[in-house]
Amino acid sequence: MVRSDTADRRRWNSESSGMFSIKSVHLFLQSRLELFITEPGLLDALHKLWKNDIPSKVGVFGWRLLLDKLPTRAALASKGILSNYHDLPCVFCFQAVEDINHLFFSCYKVLDVWRQVYSWMGFDPNCLVVGWKHFLTFGSLVKSKKGMKVKHLVWLATTWCLWRMRNNILFRGDVADFSGVFDHIKFISWLWFSGRAGRNSGYVYPNWCIDPLCCLQNI
Ligand SMILES: [Zn+2]
Repeated sequence: MVRSDTADRRRWNSESSGMFSIKSVHLFLQSRLELFITEPGLLDALHKLWKNDIPSKVGVFGWRLLLDKLPTRAALASKGILSNYHDLPCVFCFQAVEDINHLFFSCYKVLDVWRQVYSWMGFDPNCLVVGWKHFLTFGSLVKSKKGMKVKHLVWLATTWCLWRMRNNILFRGDVADFSGVFDHIKFISWLWFSGRAGRNSGYVYPNWCIDPLCCLQNI
């Protein structure tokens, strides 16, 4: 046990400086995950997630989403925190139990958002997979010289905005108004793109709104 902890600390500070860093934490978590996750596709998705230039809190959110660890109503019910069946429906449609696959990929309200996003990106909107498969499929459609840094920006902006909207409905009493979600996704993803990977690209927001794939492919 002592030897294991020591080895973990060494791995945690695995960079030559011996200092704590996000990269060393990522490497540590990645090595731990490989002990428990046997699905190669999920491991691939988690590995690619960390390579995107996104705020760290969004990286953690994406990590939890891909691992099905977000506190959805179905997840809270499985832990005994919610016990009343009337507390379980999706707050977007009230037609199904809110779990990760429904909330982010199957709810008809959310499918409308994905159709707008896919159309904006110039992709075929018929994406029938869910979870990490959806993440990998979306990333495979983005060809960029920057590689993984921008492949999933729009995917993460979409799921992040949906999660924020869901939380605002539940905890602030907002109404489920989808009219501004797509514009919000465009703006959030632009902030991430222009703030990090695309900082020196020369593109401006109208370029992003008209042809995001061109911006991503040519930075
Ligand atoms: Zn729903």
